[in-house]
Amino acid sequence: MSGLARVATISVHTSPLEQPGTGDAGGMNVYIVEVAKRMAERGVEVDVFTRHTSRALPPVVELVPGVSVRHVAAGPFEDLDKSELPGHMCAFTSELLRIEAARDPGHYDIIHSHYWLSGQAGWAARQRWGVPLVHSMHTLAKVKNTSLATGDTPEPLGRVLGEQQVVDCADRLVANTAEEARELASLYDADPGQVATVAPGADLSRFTPQDGARRRLGLPENAVVLLFVGRIQPLKAPDVLIRAAARMLEDDPGLRDRLVVAVVGGPSGSGRSRPEELRSLAARLCVLDVVRFEPPCPQDELADWYRAADVTVIPSHSESFGLVAVESQACGTPVVAASVGGLRIAVRDGRSGVLIDGHDPADYARVLHGLIGTPGRLRAMSDAAVRHAGGFGWDATADRLLEVYAEAVEARTMAVSA
Ligand code: UDP
Repeated sequence: MSGLARVATISVHTSPLEQPGTGDAGGMNVYIVEVAKRMAERGVEVDVFTRHTSRALPPVVELVPGVSVRHVAAGPFEDLDKSELPGHMCAFTSELLRIEAARDPGHYDIIHSHYWLSGQAGWAARQRWGVPLVHSMHTLAKVKNTSLATGDTPEPLGRVLGEQQVVDCADRLVANTAEEARELASLYDADPGQVATVAPGADLSRFTPQDGARRRLGLPENAVVLLFVGRIQPLKAPDVLIRAAARMLEDDPGLRDRLVVAVVGGPSGSGRSRPEELRSLAARLCVLDVVRFEPPCPQDELADWYRAADVTVIPSHSESFGLVAVESQACGTPVVAASVGGLRIAVRDGRSGVLIDGHDPADYARVLHGLIGTPGRLRAMSDAAVRHAGGFGWDATADRLLEVYAEAVEARTMAVSA
């Protein structure tokens, strides 16, 4: 038990109530929900502050006992692009401070902000409330800008500077991987002692191997199923899977009767302005008949997609961790992924999946064809995948975060009393 009673979690640009896998909702939303639930189970109350984006939502929504989502009025209810949010940060921050002051001043023991915009609000709250600020970047603009996909616009200087300000003011920074911790130190001059590496996880009770998924999803038992899951945008490179499938069919036309490429997710980021792009690409490459586009779905249903797949493919240009990789492996489905960022930790190369350097569809086609052609290897990888994923559970993430919070509170108490 950490001795902490209440956490203020800040997630300005995306709400834990949103369906992940489309728009701005993804791994960060899942992270916040799963960690908050486990903290509540451990007796720590969590309030998640997010921007109020719909008139239909009440000011406070209880997610589970001990976890509430508190809507902060800042900017219009209607669609507001993430890029416009910096203009509403003053409103968000003022309202956050007003809510706390009106309700119960001194309510929170710690602030945990997610993504740099939330860090900006956390910065002011830290000063006003006199409690430590723990911050998770989730992605770093400087890293993202070195690995842009074709057609993606670089992250603006305002974000780079905003991230730097958060690094400079936060009591603790939480990195998903040791690599991210090193990037925070080398690119943002973070003090290594300020950075804690805490691995994210997967819901290991929901993501499990189970028979019958193909029947439930209406997929033939003898199909070869390749799966992409996530927000559809150039950074995630779902086009690499479509191109690789086209190549596989060129080399092995007999596969056409059995191949299913399932793409689960909705448009996001720069993909929002071109929602039909992937479908057009599949049509141009004459593989539309094997591609099945599925809208984003809740995780219980998603688990069946992982179970139904022979391989999950994650060709991302940049990935701070890659929850999809762990979830897939927990369901017993090996992962073929780009060797970038957290995927190098989330996938055990050669054992629970295969990591590929670069994004050449020919490389993906070769590896995928090799795997589906050797069922024995795929089975061994499936077993190893379940074992590997077993090392990443949200319980461990929540426990480690509570330790980080307790360290931050202790350090602050000592600094104040010195
Ligand atoms: N997800 C989901 N339903 C979908 C697609 C994705 O719930 O239809 C979830 C998925 O389970 C995972 C998250 O969205 O937990 C994506 O996280 P990841 O770290 O892979 O990518 P990010 O969105 O953070 O870039």
